[in-house]
Amino acid sequence: MTATTAGPQPVDVVVIGAGQAGLSAAYHLAHRGVVPVARATAADRTFVVLDGEDAAGGAWRHRWQSLRMATVNGIFELPGYPVPPADPEASSSVVLPAYFSAYEQRHRLDVHRPVRVHAVRRGGDEPIDGAAARLIVETDAGAWSARYVINATGTWTKPYWPMYPGQETFLGEQLHVQSYTSAEAFAGRRVVIVGSGVSATQLLDEISAVTDTFWVTRREPIWEDGLSREKVVAALADVEERTRQGYPGSSIVRVTGMVRSQWVERAAARGALVRHPMFTRIEPDGVRMPDGTLEPADVILWATGFRPAVSHLAPLGLRTPHGGFRVANSRSLDEPRLFLIGYGASQSTIGANRAGRDAAIAIMADIG
Ligand code: FAD
Repeated sequence: MTATTAGPQPVDVVVIGAGQAGLSAAYHLAHRGVVPVARATAADRTFVVLDGEDAAGGAWRHRWQSLRMATVNGIFELPGYPVPPADPEASSSVVLPAYFSAYEQRHRLDVHRPVRVHAVRRGGDEPIDGAAARLIVETDAGAWSARYVINATGTWTKPYWPMYPGQETFLGEQLHVQSYTSAEAFAGRRVVIVGSGVSATQLLDEISAVTDTFWVTRREPIWEDGLSREKVVAALADVEERTRQGYPGSSIVRVTGMVRSQWVERAAARGALVRHPMFTRIEPDGVRMPDGTLEPADVILWATGFRPAVSHLAPLGLRTPHGGFRVANSRSLDEPRLFLIGYGASQSTIGANRAGRDAAIAIMADIG
């Protein structure tokens, strides 16, 4: 069954996105007796999962090929189904979509795709099926009228690319890690890598093995030999509090510091792990440094992260002056029918799993 243009189709829960977070939510709803709308009888509670991708896998479908199972930052399996043993050298963009696909089939989650949601708005107070005050979910394949919306749209589709003066004058190539494919493409060219997160340091290692690199970050990285449990718990609590107050979710790395991982050590051994301050402007042949020198560049690679993909939630008017949404325990504090999972402190595979479960439990507590 699909939504039609005749009018919004009623459903109890719409889950937007079928990455780790959305599949976890769907699993926990199904586990509690909520039924995919296409297989439901009139007596059933219902859900539908809408996903913008052509196939299973969420953002993992698009990660660069060299992000192998050995170099991902630790994958937490989907609830109730272990990741099958995989060759550590295999690409995560092959192994994980296959795992997600098997998971969807095993649990009969009936994901509707490709379906892109372009707006979620309040539907007024007129009751539909006895339930008042619905949220209307508008998609490129018709509309749904939902009692609850679980937003699980991740960040991959919203790369963050800061603006610097002179950016448009650069004669070389500029790209965000979202469209990175392999280091070999840069052979023989000098690459300026911008950013201080996991992607930046992984790609610094990879690219410096084949060509000359120059690494810049806004702040001096804080290096850690390892992360204690206390430090991770404190960092998560910090991000949770900021999310509750409506600040945009910040990366955990920013709060905890960077671990000296195998790729960091390799880049250091090669002499590539030399951090420079951020350039002040971009010029046709390179980047101008704060001391006035020009660093020649053929490529600028922006490893500057991603932002939550939430523009379809704009009609709800929930964004705070700080730029985020006020969310606690995955639930919007300003629109209790909306859950945001894989958002704020739940922006990791383990966090996404938990947030999906918490959203399903909260909805079941409401609707019984
Ligand atoms: P996604 O996997 O991005 O899924 C969101 C889904 O929603 C996608 O299918 C998307 O197409 C869909 N969607 C988006 N907008 C719409 C819309 N408007 N309508 C319909 N569908 C929509 N975390 C870890 O724990 N371990 C790691 O090793 C790790 N490695 C990472 C490596 C990189 C390069 C990056 C960027 C992140 C990494 N992360 C890692 C964090 C990772 O993003 C999360 O752990 C998790 O995979 C995100 O799951 P998600 O379900 O929130 O989002």
